[in-house]
Amino acid sequence: MSTSLAASTAQAEPSLHAAAAPDSQGHAVPCKVCGSHAALVFHRAGKRQRLLEAPFKPEGYERPYYRCSRCGLLFHTGFDHLTPEEEDQTKLPGVNNPKDQVINRAVRETLMTFNLMQMFKLPLTSRILIFGCGAGLSFNMMLGHQMNAYASDLTMQFPETAKRYEADIFNPELLPEMLRRFRPFDQIHPESVHLVTLTEVFEHFPNPVEMMQRIAATVRPGGLVIGTTGWVDQVREDLRDWWYLRCLSHCTFLSAKAFQHICRACGCLGVMLPGSPMITGQTGISPTQTVFVMQKPL
Ligand SMILES: [Zn+2]
Repeated sequence: MSTSLAASTAQAEPSLHAAAAPDSQGHAVPCKVCGSHAALVFHRAGKRQRLLEAPFKPEGYERPYYRCSRCGLLFHTGFDHLTPEEEDQTKLPGVNNPKDQVINRAVRETLMTFNLMQMFKLPLTSRILIFGCGAGLSFNMMLGHQMNAYASDLTMQFPETAKRYEADIFNPELLPEMLRRFRPFDQIHPESVHLVTLTEVFEHFPNPVEMMQRIAATVRPGGLVIGTTGWVDQVREDLRDWWYLRCLSHCTFLSAKAFQHICRACGCLGVMLPGSPMITGQTGISPTQTVFVMQKPL
């Protein structure tokens, strides 16, 4: 694979449409990424309408899903009018995720970060930020392999949750170093890291362009923002049946065209790739998930 990002992502596209006004029945809203017309695809009904992962249900809560006619982004607006405290509830790490899935993600994130650093010729001393470090397994693995990792999340849960894992998965001797390297995201200075990694994080952003701009701003020129997330273009079944929608704290589902818009808004080049052993080793990744790479130009 070439280590230079596809120039096609930077080619001229027609200028963005003016934001479409939402219609009074809520059958269409402006796309959250490109501003074009996004039509209602379906509503979640019954218990699928609840915020299952969150201990609250705002009165009159609804979850309509929209698909952009121009960039293909799928999103719901069910988190758009929550208080900041309620919104945080939707992003808390899934502490009840099955153990083997948490381990798979951690190994995948560690391999992906290492492999992409090699491909893009970032030195092994590069400063890495694990955004949304959750149970801290990848953080622990990277430090255990002499990678220069820091981490952030909404809450620091790993001192507690790490006890669920055996010592061959989580080295407890590294815990003091992890505590020293944990940073709330708003304390990360602009252009202070070489690589930010987002494993299964993007889909939790109700305001994806703003969040990706904030993340890209922390990366030095030549640095990378990498991650995995759902890839809606690859879904062959009815969108309602896509497994990735079962996690009710997911709200934004990436498409290739939406990714191009986001990269441009962040001043980056970018590429979306399927999982492959070259990048993710033998770890599991679904055909409807992508590895994405954004690079800030030098
Ligand atoms: Zn769009």
